[in-house]
Amino acid sequence: MALSKYSMGIGDRFGLEGVAQLRAFTAARDRGITITPVWNKSNREHSLIGTRPGDVRIEADAATAACRWSQPYFVDADHIALATVDKFLTASDFFTIDVADAIGRPASEASIAKYAADMGRFLGPLRIPGVEAPVTVSAAVLTEFARKYLAAVEEAGRVYRYIAEHKGEGSFVTEVSFDETETPQSPGELFLILAAAAREQIPVATVAPKFTGDFLKGIDYVGDSERFAKEFEEDLAVLSFAKRTFALPAALKLSIHSGSDKFSLYPIMHRALKRADAGVHLKTAGTTWLEEALGLAEAGGDGLAFAKALYREACARYDEMAKPYATVIAIDRRALPTPTQVDGWSSQEFVEALEHNQRCPRFSVHFRQLIHISFRIAAERREQLLELLRANREKVEARVSHNLLKRHIEPLFLGVSA
Ligand SMILES: [Zn+2]
Repeated sequence: MALSKYSMGIGDRFGLEGVAQLRAFTAARDRGITITPVWNKSNREHSLIGTRPGDVRIEADAATAACRWSQPYFVDADHIALATVDKFLTASDFFTIDVADAIGRPASEASIAKYAADMGRFLGPLRIPGVEAPVTVSAAVLTEFARKYLAAVEEAGRVYRYIAEHKGEGSFVTEVSFDETETPQSPGELFLILAAAAREQIPVATVAPKFTGDFLKGIDYVGDSERFAKEFEEDLAVLSFAKRTFALPAALKLSIHSGSDKFSLYPIMHRALKRADAGVHLKTAGTTWLEEALGLAEAGGDGLAFAKALYREACARYDEMAKPYATVIAIDRRALPTPTQVDGWSSQEFVEALEHNQRCPRFSVHFRQLIHISFRIAAERREQLLELLRANREKVEARVSHNLLKRHIEPLFLGVSA
């Protein structure tokens, strides 16, 4: 039950594109790169769209059977906590334990003192190979760290043990995520987090730290990519050092909760991974839905009309659509076209505005983000959506596979520039 060196989290809002998604992985495999597919859907997406974790399992099993995929694959309970994990226990075999809410919650004085004592052997300036600045480990640093992060890691331990009790140890992959928080963790903090995770005996396969910059849904990275490059490289170095230092799985790797489409970061990550001979887990965020929307718009006729009607309603219900995603979108409403303008667009004009091609002057990050978060409206018109997707199956599937292979897998895992 292990991930390969490279793995990728794929979302699929309506659960219809499993085969098309998997074709991108088989194409990569045919070129000598095994990437473990992980179908991920968070509690948030399930509740917004009215699906259940079991639906993702059915999709993953069916897709892998249809494509005769004989290597491992997983179903990720994305961003779960003790309060939400129950309904994922049967269907999932990958659990992303999100403890960001517990960051800053103080641990007990006794466990803070015990942590500080256990970590006493690192007191002094700690040099981590590959990390530029030495990490200062003092009694004060350890206590301050423990007050900020120890309760969160203890919580991760509780969630891990709860899952293990129900599923059996070794039968699932464990990720611990700290990404949905305000400030990036420093290399020193990541080292101390991994130390705490080892003390909790969490067999952490992937860890998702917070990086500098904005990882918004469905659009490229917004931030200082040079700073990101340094953070990413130093985090790789910290993982490598922590694995040599603590009882952590040898295959432990970084998980990047990308929000999809971080095209400008892929070459940076590819180079760093090669240099460090490290693996990575890349999570994308259900932009397969956008390929479906693009396929319908491209088809013209009823498909285009459906896409336009969806946009009109998305504008009318903007606050409702935006609310669950407030922290991961940046839509300038004044930059959005009006529904009446969009009604006048041809297929090509709609596709060009939505498709993530930054060289196209008609492309709009605002329009794209709003359509991305408005999948709920499509879910409300499920009958019509399913019929249109059926009618345009080939076009949609070709888009889904092409998008994953050419725009994500090739630049990140194969180093092919997009
Ligand atoms: Zn995340």
